[in-house]
Amino acid sequence: MKILVDWQKCTGIGICEALSPDTFEVGDDGKLQLINGEVIPEGLEAEIDSAIAGCPTAALSKQAS
Ligand code: SF4
Repeated sequence: MKILVDWQKCTGIGICEALSPDTFEVGDDGKLQLINGEVIPEGLEAEIDSAIAGCPTAALSKQAS
């Protein structure tokens, strides 16, 4: 599975970073970065699902890779 970010919706609030800090990082410039790239690593599925559900602007989703 891959993480999809809708960059038009992402406002850099960083809830995803709080819920899944090994995957998401908001830089000093306020821009979200995917630490491991788009592909969801094994073992991080659950916290990434939490981040997807917790994003206040619904900017995150998953897609089969
Ligand atoms: S929680 Fe949503 S809006 Fe906030 S940085 Fe993450 S993806 Fe962007």
